[in-house]
Amino acid sequence: MGTIVCQSCDATIDHVEEEKVTVLYATCDHCQHEKDQTVSEIR
Ligand SMILES: [Zn+2]
Repeated sequence: MGTIVCQSCDATIDHVEEEKVTVLYATCDHCQHEKDQTVSEIR
């Protein structure tokens, strides 16, 4: 089983059915939201 992990907070976001055990990095909804807020503040 593969695991999707948040690259910002290391939280497990989701699992994917894979023959190999793999770790995929993504951004969870929480961190994605914070990122959006940060970008908005910079602008
Ligand atoms: Zn996160």
